[in-house]
Order: sequence, then C-alpha cells, then structure tokens
Amino acid sequence: MNKKNVLYVKDLNKTYSKNSSKSVHAIKNLNLEVKEGEIFGLLGPNGAGKSTFINILAGTTIKTSGEVNVWGFNLDVNPRQVRASIGIVPQEVNVDPFFTPWNILELQAGMYGIKKKDRITETILKLVSLDKQSKSYTRALSGGMKRRLLVAKALVHKPPIIILDEPTAGVDVELRSNLWDNVKQLNKQGVTIILTTHYLNEAEQMCDRIGILNKGSIVALDTTKNLLKRIQTKIVKFAVDKKVSISNDSLKSINILSNKIDELVVSYEKNALNISEIIKFISLQNIKLLDISTDDGDLEDVFIRLTKN
Ligand code: ADP
Ligand code: MG
Repeated sequence: MNKKNVLYVKDLNKTYSKNSSKSVHAIKNLNLEVKEGEIFGLLGPNGAGKSTFINILAGTTIKTSGEVNVWGFNLDVNPRQVRASIGIVPQEVNVDPFFTPWNILELQAGMYGIKKKDRITETILKLVSLDKQSKSYTRALSGGMKRRLLVAKALVHKPPIIILDEPTAGVDVELRSNLWDNVKQLNKQGVTIILTTHYLNEAEQMCDRIGILNKGSIVALDTTKNLLKRIQTKIVKFAVDKKVSISNDSLKSINILSNKIDELVVSYEKNALNISEIIKFISLQNIKLLDISTDDGDLEDVFIRLTKN
C-alpha cells in the first residue's frame, strides 16, 4: 500500500526583501514530498535556505509563493492544523534559564490547550533522558541537555511529524549520538522525521532519503543508498615491501595521496580504473603487496560535487 504524503510542497518561493537594499531569493521553486514514517534529511551548506524552509513550515516565516501541505492540511487554509501536526526543534536554543524542564513542558502543553490529564510531561522527559533534571533550572543544563529539552518541547502535543533544524550543531559527539537514538526511537513509534544537518555522516546513518539544497534549489533528491551509489571516488591503501615508483600520470584517474617506503595511498575513479590495474602496475616493479585496504567515498564527495558553484 502506498504511504501517504505527510509533506507536499509545490513551487515554493521565498524572497526576503529589505526595504531599499537588495533582496535575497532564499527558496527557489522548491518541490518536495515526504512520506509517512520516513526519516528525511535536508542537507546544504550555510545559507542554502534550510532554516528558511523549516521556518515556513513552522509558520514563523511567511512564504512568498507556492503551496505547502502538511498532514493533508494546506498552510494557507488551515495554518492551525498545520502547526498542530508538526513539532519543531529550532536551530537556535532559546529556553528560559529560570524555568525547569518540567515547567517549560507544562507551559508548552498549556499553549497547545492540552488538558492536565492528557499531558505526557513525565514520559517525554524520560524519552529525552531529562527525567533526573526535570526540576532543575535550565540554566544549569549542559548544551546537549538544552537541545534535548527543545526536542521534548516539540513533542508535547504528540505531533505525527517532527522537524529538527541542525539539532546537533555544537553538541558533543556522545550527546549527538544520544540525541539521534532518541530521534530513531520516535521514528520507530511511527513519527515522521524531517531534519537538517551539515554533519553528512549523520545524515548518511539516519536518513532514508536525502535532499541536497543549494542556493534555495534542490540539486539532488534520492534515497541515501542511491546517492551513495553515485560516488565514484575510491581510496586504496597498499602495504608494500619497497617504495613504489608511481605518479599521477602513471594510470588513468589515479591520484597519489601519499607514497612512503612501506605504504602507498591513492585515490582513483571507479569508472576509469580498476583496482586490478593498480595491483598489476605495482607487481611489475617486483614489489610485494603485504596488505590492501579500500575505502569508499562518502556523502561528502557527492555533496561537494553538487554544491560547489
Ligand atoms: P541555512 O539555514 O541553510 O543556513 P537560511 O535559510 O538561514 O540558510 O538562509 C538562506 C538565505 O536567506 C541566506 O542568504 C540568508 O542570509 C538569508 N536570510 C535568512 N533569514 C533572513 C532574514 N530574516 N532576512 C533577510 N535575509 C535572510
Ligand atoms: Mg540554518
């Protein structure tokens, strides 16, 4: 059975115009669909328009033109239902330092008109591992804890879609993986996840599909698997018993990364050269290969190729 579209965006445009000075076309004819249950990643360099896009969904930035549908609701017709369907974790951390996590979640629930008996404050705090800090002032929380509190805040009205804007920017590695575990757990419970990040390895691990945004336009949109298939660069490391005599001109597409007495590291393009040709080249010099290890390129390669002018 086809999963339903939980997000449907058609020909979306946003131009920021500052009175007399020049205007910024931050989103250009963006088209996008996200399906129920997906983890969708929006990647892009700084200034690509990621936050603008998310703020439009959140209702804090007004689009210039185009159509946005969330959970079947049209943003122009049913803005309140749109807002009820999504939980936004913003890029900027702004929580009142003199409130406790418990207070903040209760206030947020009040804002959404959730009755006391229907609130799930305790459950949410457990989910983001802040149950022990529930009654501490938030100013005493670490950066990572504040981030998790923002995730918690986005969950109080049990939205079917959670949108996270660079949730791990400035968060240390351990807390990052902890936060992603939380997000994966939510996804397992059926919540659709839309996130932006500039940590490509995280996107690679987390996302079912990825859209790459550059200067307001989508330059690639595919499953993570298919995007990775586009990568042609391979890196190979040879442990050798003598220094290899080799240069960038020796073989097609080869690029010498380092060449030492006991080790040669090169990169090459899969579509231009086969590893067996490199092995043959080395063997012809009567050099023994003691070990070989290869490394596939990652999303970073695709990203750099697609976003450099
Ligand atoms: P990202 O989140 O991908 O880094 P943004 O959406 O923040 O990108 O920014 C996209 C473009 O829009 C940038 O050129 C940025 O300078 C511009 N921009 C963002 N917010 C505003 C604003 N409030 N007023 C004017 N220009 C803005
Ligand atoms: Mg941003």
